[in-house]
Amino acid sequence: MRSGYHNFRRFSSPQILFRFIRVKAHMTFDFSMVSDEDIRREKEKARRLRRTHWWYSRIEKGVCHYCQRQVGWENLTMDHVVPLARGGQSKKGNLVPACKACNNKKKYLLPVEWEEYLSSLDACQE
Ligand SMILES: [Zn+2]
Repeated sequence: MRSGYHNFRRFSSPQILFRFIRVKAHMTFDFSMVSDEDIRREKEKARRLRRTHWWYSRIEKGVCHYCQRQVGWENLTMDHVVPLARGGQSKKGNLVPACKACNNKKKYLLPVEWEEYLSSLDACQE
């Protein structure tokens, strides 16, 4: 018998655990309730946040949130951890800088494949 607690113990750092929880949220979100109007409004919010000091401070080091590669701030895009189409919102906790490679992968992979991609990155860093 495996409890959720025991599952979490195999994560070696809080950062990896946090990433795992986010991926889970990504997979379990109910996106049936999201309207075009919601998405339009959230996209507008994201556009505004992209011009804030908060966002500049997120990208100034030029590091991708997912693969931790240094790609330069001009190559980072704003990514919704939980996509808008799945009920994610344009708020600080859901927005991260992502390199183009990660951004494309996230767009085209199934959530379960994306999770595999993230765990392969964690394996490389350990
Ligand atoms: Zn990346």
